[in-house]
Parts: sequence; structure tokens; C-alpha cells
Amino acid sequence: MKLVFATHNLGKLKEVQEITGNRFQLLSLADIGFAEDIPEPWPTLEENALEKARTIYRRFGLNCFAEDTGLEVEALNGEPGVLTARYAGEHKSPDDNINLVLQKLQNAANRRARFRTVFALVLNGNEYLFEGIASGTITLQRQGEGGFGYDPVFLPHGYAQTFAQLPAEVKNQISHRGKAMQQLIQFLRQLE
Ligand code: IMP
Repeated sequence: MKLVFATHNLGKLKEVQEITGNRFQLLSLADIGFAEDIPEPWPTLEENALEKARTIYRRFGLNCFAEDTGLEVEALNGEPGVLTARYAGEHKSPDDNINLVLQKLQNAANRRARFRTVFALVLNGNEYLFEGIASGTITLQRQGEGGFGYDPVFLPHGYAQTFAQLPAEVKNQISHRGKAMQQLIQFLRQLE
């Protein structure tokens, strides 16, 4: 089965490719010649993910899934949430975003946080949602060079290393995106 993954984020594309293996033919936006940015104007991850998948399905008539992810920090009342990518401004700098979170948590005793991913699938015109959550804490400073985004400051529950330090296979098994993706794969398998 051919499926488009509607993302321009190469880090996410690589992760999802590792998780899906060769179960289906995964096409990127570059593969289908779509270079535009797809806006994420809505207040929820669910609506933003659906918007992206619908945009590609309508324009190209190809089955498509898209995702939106938010980092939800307890002491910040769930911020950055849907603003995760542009927390420190529209330039979407991962470095500035991390600095802002660390600064806001400077005196916080509670550093609990979670990543939440929502995948939206548009398959033959029908729409489905899948969710994955990874719980953990925000570290005091960056640790590790791997991964992307907030990985250097996210310590998953039960592990002594951040997402940026853990091997990619381990992160993929326990991550928000990994868990949501497994659900999506299980769903697609039922249809086979
Ligand atoms: P979006 O889903 O493309 O809007 O991305 C939301 C934000 O979450 C971006 O700033 C990403 O860098 C960040 N993000 C998404 N997934 C991860 C992850 O697995 N680790 C670290 N940061 C992530």
C-alpha cells in the first residue's frame, strides 16, 4: 500500500520509516512534489493533524497520514502544547525553544512533562485518529546529541538517559510517536 506521510520534518520521517520498515511504501512530501508549508492554525493537535492529512488527500487523491506533537509541561499548565514548535517565536528554533522551557522551569520543583502525538489518517476519504503519550521530566540542562527538537532535555520515565542519549531503536519503542505509530500500523494490518 502507498501512503504519504505529510511532514517536512526529516527527523520525523526518518523515525517513522524506521518504525514502519517495509510494511508499506511510504512517500514523503518531497516524493510527491509538495514543497509548501501546511499551516497548523488550530488550537488542538487533533485538528492540526487532520488539516495536514486532508490537505494532501484532497490535492493529490493519495491516502495520507499526518501528525502533530506537543510537549505538555505540568508546571506550565500544559504549555507549550500546540505551540511546541514555535514556543520561542515563529522562527521555530529548537535551541531557543529549549532555552525558554529551561528558563521558565528555573525554580520549579515539579519538572514533570509529557510528549503527546496525534496521527490523523485519511484513507479512501475516511478519517481516523491515533494517540501516543511518553511521560517523563525536563532535565536541568541539555544532555546528548541525538534526536531532534526537545530531545536533549526530555528524560523519559524509567530511564537514566534523555531521548537525545538513548539509541534511536529504544526511543522509537517508548516514544509518543512510536506508540501512536504502532496503533496506526495495527489498524492498517487489520485491513489487509
Ligand atoms: P510539530 O508536530 O511539527 O508541530 O512539532 C512540534 C514540536 O515538537 C517541534 O518543535 C518538534 O521539534 C517537537 N517534537 C516533536 N516530536 C519530538 C520528539 O520526539 N522529540 C523532541 N521534540 C519533538
